[in-house]
Amino acid sequence: MIVVMRPTATQEEIDGVRKNIEDNGLEAFLSVGEERTVIGVVGDVDRISHLGTLPGVDQVIRVSSPYKLASLQEPGERTRVRIRDVDIGLGSEMVVMAGPCAVESREQLMETARCVRREGARVLRGGAFKPRTSPYSFQGLGLPALKLLAEAREVTGMPITSEVVDPADVEAFEEHVDILQVGARNMQNFALLKAVGQSRRPVLLKRGLSSTIEEWLLAAEYILSAGNPNVILCERGIRTFETATRNTLDLSAVPVLRSRTHLPIVVDPSHGTGHRSLVGPMALAGAAVGADGLLIEVHPDPANARSDGDQSLAFDEFGALMDELRRLQFVRAVGDGLPPLPEERPVVAAGIDDLRERIDDMDTRLADLVQERAALALEVQRRRDPHVHGHDVRRERDLLERASTSATGPMTPVELTMVFDAVLRASRSVQRRHAQSVVRSEEAAAGNDR
Ligand code: PEP
Ligand code: MN
Repeated sequence: MIVVMRPTATQEEIDGVRKNIEDNGLEAFLSVGEERTVIGVVGDVDRISHLGTLPGVDQVIRVSSPYKLASLQEPGERTRVRIRDVDIGLGSEMVVMAGPCAVESREQLMETARCVRREGARVLRGGAFKPRTSPYSFQGLGLPALKLLAEAREVTGMPITSEVVDPADVEAFEEHVDILQVGARNMQNFALLKAVGQSRRPVLLKRGLSSTIEEWLLAAEYILSAGNPNVILCERGIRTFETATRNTLDLSAVPVLRSRTHLPIVVDPSHGTGHRSLVGPMALAGAAVGADGLLIEVHPDPANARSDGDQSLAFDEFGALMDELRRLQFVRAVGDGLPPLPEERPVVAAGIDDLRERIDDMDTRLADLVQERAALALEVQRRRDPHVHGHDVRRERDLLERASTSATGPMTPVELTMVFDAVLRASRSVQRRHAQSVVRSEEAAAGNDR
């Protein structure tokens, strides 16, 4: 700590500060400048937090971090937290935690659990006790929901996370839940922080609605100093003047935290944005900025969800997001190193290699076919004027129309239309490239003639 004295400080005031430091068992080192005196302090500075109030003191600057256990001991230090067989943090794959905002029924939870597990989530979330802004909103099913979550863990093998709102409930949570979630509204509920600090279970500590990173890390420090080393931080958006999103997801918090703490970091784009359409892009952004995990709300019927339906992804939307995370290699392929779902094992295993071989074979033939189609489209382009837009829009429209009305296989009309749409776009790209090269060589020839 450095104490900067006022330029007008008297010798008596300087001596008074020095004495105060030494009386508290710390060491003081004076540096007397032309204009001011600066006093360096070594020792447990938490005991002299009153120094700024002494006469003659201008500023007190803290040099060491106030969160001893949460802070980095050396640059790049990282911690890994183990939740049953899932690792998060240091060197482990990004962990997707997904599930409903609130557990509403056995059917809703099981359906969602199976879906998110199949798509590659590693941890199941589900609120049992909901800290709602209004006392008239759905408050959660309470203890029965914890039992349903434990049942879902049995079925899917996924560890579960759920929010604890009352220190008195920690014991019941320990019995049923793998990660104790401390919600944004409770980030500075110090009694709760101490209670989860005494637990053996990992804690997911959400950032408070209007908390600074320092306050958040000090909240983590409460848990760590109470004896629980397994704290995971979760950025879930903060209150700003912006109203277009439910909160402002502070993704810069991720690299800032990286430079200050070794604890694993999760990003929650659901509460961070409040809108379903924004969850995917911000989940990808969270992964890109280096989050160790994502927390995502998923519901079988978001329009009729009892809480946070607006920000919950439907199953197909969650599937598409997981596909994108896999494509960008933020998460591994499903089944790659993951145990299959218990009930699905016998059905899926039979003859699967055989089927995959046929699909590979078909992909080769499809590639040949689309190339053949592109060669014909190129031939059409060669025979028409490169200076005018010559696509036969009517035939393209007819083709898409046919796709959208006569789908007979497992693909829906929408999916079949997606395929033809991609084929048409690629084909136009081939034709456009040819037309441009003809025009360019004509221009070059004209230039030479001049
Ligand atoms: C939740 O994740 O269920 C939740 C209530 O989030 P937050 O505490 O971030 O609002
Ligand atoms: Mn929610």
